Amino acid sequence: MSFFAPLRPQPADALLALIGLYRDDPRPQKLDLGVGVYRDDDGHTPVMRSVKAAERRLLESQDSKSYLGPEGNVAFTRHMAKLAFGTAVDAARLTGVQTPGGTGALRLAAELIAASRPGARVFVGTPTWPNHPPVMAAAGLKVETFRHFDVASQRLCFDEMMAALDKAVAGDVVLLHGCCHNPTGADLNLEQWAAVAELMQARGLFPLLDLAYQGLGQGMEEDAAGVRLVLQRCPEALVAYSCDKNFGVYRERVGALFAQVADGADAERVNSNMLLLARANWSMPPDHGAAAIALLLDDPALTADWKVELDQMRDRLRAVRRALASHGGALAHVNEQHGMFSLLPLSPPVVARLRTEHAVYMAGSGRINIAGLTVETASRFAQAVAACV
Ligand code: PMP
Repeated sequence: MSFFAPLRPQPADALLALIGLYRDDPRPQKLDLGVGVYRDDDGHTPVMRSVKAAERRLLESQDSKSYLGPEGNVAFTRHMAKLAFGTAVDAARLTGVQTPGGTGALRLAAELIAASRPGARVFVGTPTWPNHPPVMAAAGLKVETFRHFDVASQRLCFDEMMAALDKAVAGDVVLLHGCCHNPTGADLNLEQWAAVAELMQARGLFPLLDLAYQGLGQGMEEDAAGVRLVLQRCPEALVAYSCDKNFGVYRERVGALFAQVADGADAERVNSNMLLLARANWSMPPDHGAAAIALLLDDPALTADWKVELDQMRDRLRAVRRALASHGGALAHVNEQHGMFSLLPLSPPVVARLRTEHAVYMAGSGRINIAGLTVETASRFAQAVAACV
């Protein structure tokens, strides 16, 4: 028997299959609302101007590619902590390491949780980013779900979330999207964040916060407000950060994992465990993207330019959302949602008709990438949706 005989074939990523279908579609008006990367008005995912400038400088100034350590680029991690937490968090109670993207941060978080509390339960609102459950499960954590969003009514199921967390017990983990919820765009408002934070604190629940789209929702500060509120309320937490969207460096795999500890004296012990787990996973994270971003954030002019670019990206997403919502119907609530994604109340047959009859490519779930549209194509998309429902 072949050594590999026990392995069952696994389905290909449905979104990647969609890329192939889209590429082979000859219709010139085709729209790709599938894959989750930012696009500009011309449909491109360019390297940001500020990032390119930082990379150029890095190319000139970098004089060694010798190993760093499992903690990665320390200057990068310090900058990320400043962006994510501002002055809301006591630096002495914070420790972090650079990771390969937000996914690496989540995996490291899951393993750190498992090392401390083997088999811990992680409460996850559904629908969620499809990689959340497998990443948690890979570390041996038990995934418990509650409903985050009702697709038909396009409403956040806040009461269901509170009821689920009310049943959780001390030591349970709660995974929350920091902003720009993927796939629904339905974020908690500040009042709701405060209520969740209070409940987690009262019940001794452990927050695991996934901040993957800071700056693409309502603003850099606004998008971090919920995370900061939780960190101020709950003594201990983990934050998985991704720079892959807000710096547009997806394939460079840039992220960080932060832990807030209750007592500053614990920071080094927690950090040493992060480093041990990082070494066993990837030894050290890829350098280039983090080094370029550290260089960018060290330079006030490049930082200012990056913020201009990020503002433009966010403004564009918001303009497309406004244009879509003005058509009402299935799109009526899109302007109450934030970031790159919305999960439309469209059945799989409607999604299939949109593809075959209107050359609109989107996930079977009804998720659309807002960045796949422009203010101009939004009305064409809205008409196609109206024709199919
Ligand atoms: N969390 C969420 C909610 C995401 O949507 C993503 C990326 N799609 C990630 C984490 C992981 O990001 P990265 O590409 O940096 O691994």
